[in-house]
Amino acid sequence: MSFFENAANLGHESVHQFYDPQTGLRAIVAIHSTALGPAAGGCRMWHYEDEAQAMRDALRLSRGMTYKNAMAGLPMGGGKAVILTDPERPPSDDLFRAFGRCVDSLGGRYITAEDVGVSVDNMRLIKEVTEFAAGVPHGEGSAGGDPSPWTADGVFLGIRAAVAHRLGSDSLDNLRVAVQGVGKVGYDLCRQLREAGASLVIADVNEQNLNRAQAEFGAQVADIDQILFEDVDVLAPCAMGAVLDAQSIPNIRATVIGGAANNQLATEDDGQRLFDRGILYAPDFVINGGGIISVSMEYMGGKTEAEVSAQIALIPERLSEIFVSSDKQQTPTNVVADSMAEAIVAAGPK
Ligand code: NAD
Repeated sequence: MSFFENAANLGHESVHQFYDPQTGLRAIVAIHSTALGPAAGGCRMWHYEDEAQAMRDALRLSRGMTYKNAMAGLPMGGGKAVILTDPERPPSDDLFRAFGRCVDSLGGRYITAEDVGVSVDNMRLIKEVTEFAAGVPHGEGSAGGDPSPWTADGVFLGIRAAVAHRLGSDSLDNLRVAVQGVGKVGYDLCRQLREAGASLVIADVNEQNLNRAQAEFGAQVADIDQILFEDVDVLAPCAMGAVLDAQSIPNIRATVIGGAANNQLATEDDGQRLFDRGILYAPDFVINGGGIISVSMEYMGGKTEAEVSAQIALIPERLSEIFVSSDKQQTPTNVVADSMAEAIVAAGPK
């Protein structure tokens, strides 16, 4: 499918490509929807095989942001940026400033923040040149800063809601949870799961991250290729997307799936595959909304961490609503969640 067909099929408003010869910046900003407000979504910095892969990622992730922001009750549309890394040229501080100027040139139609590969320090550089960025700390008690711990909070609460729905109690004591990817969100999630009494099986391609989580949480380490198929109650994909597909789903032993990764389903049909196997899937864009809630409230200004927490506390309620509808309509949870999000966007701003 051509780029234009893909963008048209997914319903994008506009897609922007940027190149800066001084810093070598190559970036794409995909604005999926501004129906509910400015298109908010993180910036991912990643080594893509080719430009087409980067474009596909930007298009798919930005559409996900429209759904995520709608379901989180935010006055925000959906967008996403990707920066294509150059293995020959590590990103300089000026590259982030150049990216900030690109965001600024969109005049507030797109609001950026951290995603995979982009740190709070990088975001500070971006924020030097544009007001259309969030994800930097604003002092004690104010909304702002690294969104990852907030994402982990929402995922933890969402897992409890999914466990309650499927197993009849929200206690995680003595449950086994497999966490794929123990980076920023996965690490924080592991801490909360451990505190709640769960035992952990983890895998990560980054040895430092793996060793840290293993040492701190007494987690068992699984093979990278086996983590999805461990004999556990809950599987939490917290690395990259498209891990749930026609090959992996038949071998999954968990009865609940809830994690931070975006676009966990390789295709829409994979939601049906999980449903047919009786695996309760917490739709990614609902369970992982904690970070964008924090970022958006920071961007709106004058909001406190307590307000962010209160909004994140609504995630399990939304998930429970989806689980109940899914049971009632005998429809996969991803399909139920998509229609709920589409109805919110269609209704327009509150
Ligand atoms: P991160 O880069 O800090 O952590 C990801 C971890 O996954 C890293 O430790 C990496 O080594 C590991 N990993 C990569 N490929 C792997 C593989 N094949 N198998 C096992 N481990 C692998 O990123 P993060 O911020 O923790 O985000 C994790 C996921 O959650 C991403 O998909 C991201 O888009 C999504 N997400 C993050 C946030 C947030 O607030 N950070 C919000 C919403 C969604």
